[in-house]
Amino acid sequence: MKTYRNFIANEWRDAVDGEHIAVRNPSTGEELARLARGRREDVDLAVRAARQALSGEWGRLTATERGRILTRIGAGVLKNIDLLTEIEARDVGKPLTQARADVVALARYLEFYGASADKVHGDTIPYQNGFTVLTIYEPHGVTGHIIPWNYPMQILGRSLGAALAMGNAAVVKPAEEACLTILEFARIAQEEGLPAGALNIVTGFGAEAGAALSEHTDINHISFTGSARTGEMVQTAAAKNAVPVTLELGGKSAQVVFADADLDRAVPFLVNAGIQNAGQTCSASSRILVERSVYEDVIARMSEKYRALKVGPAESDLSVGPVVSQRQKAIIEDFLGVARKDGLTVAAQGTIVPDAPADGAYVAPTLLRDVPPDHRLAQEEIFGPVQVIMPFDSEEEALALANGTPYGLVCGIWTNDGGRQLRMARAAQAGQVFINNYGAGGGVELPFGGVKKSGHGREKGFEALYGFASMKTISIFHG
Ligand code: ADP
Repeated sequence: MKTYRNFIANEWRDAVDGEHIAVRNPSTGEELARLARGRREDVDLAVRAARQALSGEWGRLTATERGRILTRIGAGVLKNIDLLTEIEARDVGKPLTQARADVVALARYLEFYGASADKVHGDTIPYQNGFTVLTIYEPHGVTGHIIPWNYPMQILGRSLGAALAMGNAAVVKPAEEACLTILEFARIAQEEGLPAGALNIVTGFGAEAGAALSEHTDINHISFTGSARTGEMVQTAAAKNAVPVTLELGGKSAQVVFADADLDRAVPFLVNAGIQNAGQTCSASSRILVERSVYEDVIARMSEKYRALKVGPAESDLSVGPVVSQRQKAIIEDFLGVARKDGLTVAAQGTIVPDAPADGAYVAPTLLRDVPPDHRLAQEEIFGPVQVIMPFDSEEEALALANGTPYGLVCGIWTNDGGRQLRMARAAQAGQVFINNYGAGGGVELPFGGVKKSGHGREKGFEALYGFASMKTISIFHG
């Protein structure tokens, strides 16, 4: 069984106090590896290494040279695609096809941000006679990245790729459930020529290493993706040091299906956006809103798909794997217990395959129908393969339902009426709107982030580069 160490200034180091965290394979429950249990002193070493990198080799590179390195790392990721796929499947339980897609996305982020690094430029601003005023984008400095366990490679790629492209030096705190591919990535980055200290990784518990990073006084920006509760703690800690924060929190994203929609096209998206990654996706579509005249038809079609869903070990590469941990399974089962107690109707469920290991974290995907809009299951993020479906009678009602949760991450709209598409898209309280498609987390090129309790700031796409930069205005008097 492998023991992993922290990655600081291109060296592998045990935690200062030498302690470890056990990692389990959620498909089997077996112990898989050991991680360094990093704490405040380890985070401090990592922040210092990053600070030094800014005045060292990394800080002296041109934007073009940084871009070339990122592009090389992206190619290095693809050379390791089989290894990374296998590690991710064992570590977080992703079916192999889904794990492989995450590796491809990680490589694509590095390719995208590698190519973007030298394309960010400022403006000249008309001002008083005798002046020239210009703006330039500078890196924040040391950026902290707190990564969740649901898409470790993708979220590392989008956040680290943009931060490094802009010339920041990064300290990454992966989720304790999902560190292995991120540590393997560090090896690849080093092999492909990333200068020491540009990337540092400290593994550990959120309340220890994560809290130490968000409270650190020598961090200049924090990117956090995770739960609303933890995001609030990170933002509060950062506020004490006036450190800017990008928060990508949860969601309760709806897909709204009007009667004129192309149901043959819509139904696979309706289901996949709920069960992809076993529903553990910030932008999962956990609510399906359907115009009453096609409500029963959509339920029947979705139910047929649900009944065909097979849940099993990641290596079997079925449509649904285990959830990430027994703790996550218990959270989802609590929600399903509430649904039972309150008499909600199960429209259909998937099946856990009979030979799935007894100690694996398996949950049967569940579609619940006629769920009242104010019920907990229609309001709270479950982060598991559970969708609720409910009817509506008018566009106004559909909009009120779609916007009727504390969250605002993504919204899907299915209709062939062009006016309605744009009315709904403009009025939806969401950071991303999909019309006649739905990409949970979709598209490296597409800016992504939330409104309301889903957070603020944008990652992904070219836009993210501005978030990892600070604008300086230079006003020159020349007469
Ligand atoms: P979950 O409860 O599903 O694990 P979190 O939002 O707590 O989701 O986890 C997202 C990331 O935040 C993980 O890397 C986790 O270790 C980290 N984290 C958890 N608690 C804290 C905290 N108090 N301060 C900073 N980071 C934290």
